[in-house]
Amino acid sequence: MNNIWGFTISSARVIDYDKNDRSFAQYMTDTVPSSQLCIGCGGCTATCTAGALTDFNIRKLQMLVKRGENREAGEQMHKCMLCGKCLLVCPRGVDTRRMIFAMLKYIDNQKL
Ligand code: SF4
Ligand code: SF4
Repeated sequence: MNNIWGFTISSARVIDYDKNDRSFAQYMTDTVPSSQLCIGCGGCTATCTAGALTDFNIRKLQMLVKRGENREAGEQMHKCMLCGKCLLVCPRGVDTRRMIFAMLKYIDNQKL
């Protein structure tokens, strides 16, 4: 809606995470319990081979799954090269490569 001042105010972008499908996040908790230990430090992202070559961001990927933004997560997943470097640097012992394997399996089964 235009107003007399010549500009409009954008409507608020509200994401209601409670309405998202959390079944993927629950699957990850059950399948790779160490995924719950992540503190979001970004060490995995900083060392990621795929991240150096593409816009892939494994920390963001984990966040998307936890929030139930499954379609976005599914679009990112296949950029991982499964090299395992992230696994070596994680200070919390998150089994990131196993996590990605489990995500790929879920994504393929669910056709996300
Ligand atoms: S390095 Fe480990 S703790 Fe840090 S963001 Fe990655 S998975 Fe989480
Ligand atoms: S296994 Fe995947 S997420 Fe981890 S460093 Fe390699 S390309 Fe990046």
